[in-house]
Amino acid sequence: MSAPTYDLGKLHGGLRLDGKKSQSTAEPIHTIPIPSQLIQPLAQHVGDPAHPIVGIGERVLKGQLIAEQEGSLGAPVHASSSGRIVAIEAWPISRRFGDTAPCVVIETDGEDRPIERAETPPPFDTLPPDFLADKILQGGIVGLGGAVFPTSQKLIQANTCELDYLILNGVECEPYISCDDVLMRERAHEVISGAQVLLHALSLEVCYIGVESDKPEALHNLADALGEADDARIILKQVPTIYPSGGEDQLVQLVTNREVPSGGLPTDIGCLVQNVGTAVAIYDWIHDNEPLISRITTITGDGIATPMNVKVRLGTTVADVVNVAGGYTDKARQLIIGGPMTGKSVTTDRVPVVKATNCILVLSETPSPGPELSCIRCGDCAAVCPVQLLPQQLFWYACADDEKHLRSYGLTDCIECGCCDLVCPSHIPLTADFRKAKGRFRELADEKARAERARRRFEARNERKVLEEQHRLHELAEQKEKAKLAGPAAIAEILKRKRGRDKD
Ligand code: SF4
Ligand code: SF4
Repeated sequence: MSAPTYDLGKLHGGLRLDGKKSQSTAEPIHTIPIPSQLIQPLAQHVGDPAHPIVGIGERVLKGQLIAEQEGSLGAPVHASSSGRIVAIEAWPISRRFGDTAPCVVIETDGEDRPIERAETPPPFDTLPPDFLADKILQGGIVGLGGAVFPTSQKLIQANTCELDYLILNGVECEPYISCDDVLMRERAHEVISGAQVLLHALSLEVCYIGVESDKPEALHNLADALGEADDARIILKQVPTIYPSGGEDQLVQLVTNREVPSGGLPTDIGCLVQNVGTAVAIYDWIHDNEPLISRITTITGDGIATPMNVKVRLGTTVADVVNVAGGYTDKARQLIIGGPMTGKSVTTDRVPVVKATNCILVLSETPSPGPELSCIRCGDCAAVCPVQLLPQQLFWYACADDEKHLRSYGLTDCIECGCCDLVCPSHIPLTADFRKAKGRFRELADEKARAERARRRFEARNERKVLEEQHRLHELAEQKEKAKLAGPAAIAEILKRKRGRDKD
């Protein structure tokens, strides 16, 4: 069956970039062997880090819960293979904020023995939707498109809104990254089955799967799988190959022609977006009892001998993945976790692959774009901004640290796509400046939250003191009353007790 096309919404701005994806899509997905050590961070999602429930020396099985969800926005962590816990300690990680984080370290035994699950899972469509959301939480499922937002929380929030559409995001618009493309090629049936689970969890009747036009094999295989599933609720939509059409808000606009309001969410306009990888992770958990312990990752760039896509256990170090891909080439100079536009450079390959790791990119030296010059007000940055911001204005306010204007000019809507940087003839690192300014907003918000918590603690302590004093006076009055009735001996007894207490 060939992939149908539809009238689509239009994306403002964006850029046609050289995808450089064919480097890593020539081979089928390789499976990385179980490494001798797995380094599993407690925070692989937005929200609070998970709380470890295993101790050093303890033996664990594949799929066993090793850290429980903490807080309302957390997700649990499961052992990616069987072995023994040898440490719970800080380890280098790749995260935008912070370079190390507490990790559970498992020395694997090579047996890969799975934990026994009580029973065969019941058919998903016999389960109530809220039960399904809770079950998805227990599987440690988070958004695999990069945001790593706990999926169950997204479903719970969405179920409080008037929803029309589920949208599966198969648009992988950032250069070099091809893990979703190969996933859709090789596991198209599971993408469709995952969509069916999500439709049931959301009590919805329409799911669009958005896939870019430069992925003909994925589109073809999905169309075939859809034909076999014979499920008219799921509709494949081909979207133009333009960066950043895979941004959540941009995809909603392309697929439904609806625009997410500034500061809002897709659920405000009746849409919920999930990544295709997340849909497959849900399928693996709900159908096969396998929690999120592995993912598909692209390893590529001119610094890698054999670029490819790999199925890798979470906690495997980047160094182990590089070895399977034939090692580094002589050109290797930069190691980036993620893509070239939104990824993060790291200085060590000891960092582990985590739920968010969609790409390991090793590049040669990038030629310097040239010295930063003054803004010439050409307006090119505004023309390409997919959020219709005015990056040149934002840049001036960021330089002046003018929070009020940064907010009114929509800095918080900036998706940090980097399009404005690429076109700026003055080589101004606009996105880095916006990232820093947003970081300052976050720090201010954290500071305010800390001050608010301190204020509440202070008030609670004062209230407690008042209550204690009232209680003490009440007790004293009672004792005096008793003493009046009991006579001098009782008064002496009270005095003795009071002196004893005062000495204490
Ligand atoms: S593209 Fe660069 S030079 Fe042109 S207006 Fe934007 S910031 Fe200024
Ligand atoms: S980085 Fe932000 S301001 Fe620049 S083009 Fe992207 S969304 Fe617009």
